[in-house]
Amino acid sequence: MSITADKVVSIEYTLTDDDGDVLDTSVGEDPLVYLHGAENIVPGLEQALEGKGTGDELLVVVEPVDGYGEYLAELISTVDKDMFEGVDELEPGMEFHAEAPDGDSQIVTVRAIDGNDVTIDANHPLAGQRLHFQVKVVDIRDATDEELTHGHPHGEDDHEH
Ligand code: ZN
Repeated sequence: MSITADKVVSIEYTLTDDDGDVLDTSVGEDPLVYLHGAENIVPGLEQALEGKGTGDELLVVVEPVDGYGEYLAELISTVDKDMFEGVDELEPGMEFHAEAPDGDSQIVTVRAIDGNDVTIDANHPLAGQRLHFQVKVVDIRDATDEELTHGHPHGEDDHEH
């Protein structure tokens, strides 16, 4: 079986940046399971996996435009500190989940704090970065009807929605 749309694919992966520093890896954890063709993973990686088979190993370099996007200065804004009510000690570098204009969840990072003004950055933490994925395909199976309806794979026992 090879990877095409509507297959549930398990991959082992290590993600590094241009300097070779590891940003993320499945080593020591379960493989990443995703539904192919449903944009569960970054487009550049999904495209590179198309047609691959179980056991295939590949090295994929993904440019920002096919990864987490270019770094956009307009996504930096200043908000009132009251927005962070309940946070004990607000510090630059802290990341918060927020709702994006399209309803999706996004991560915003605190860049600076000046009195009541908090500068936040809604770029994805990996925006603007070239991504180097070392990937091994470990399993491919057909998606169930329920998975196709939901647009993501379901685990064996951890599905709760
Ligand atoms: Zn689901």
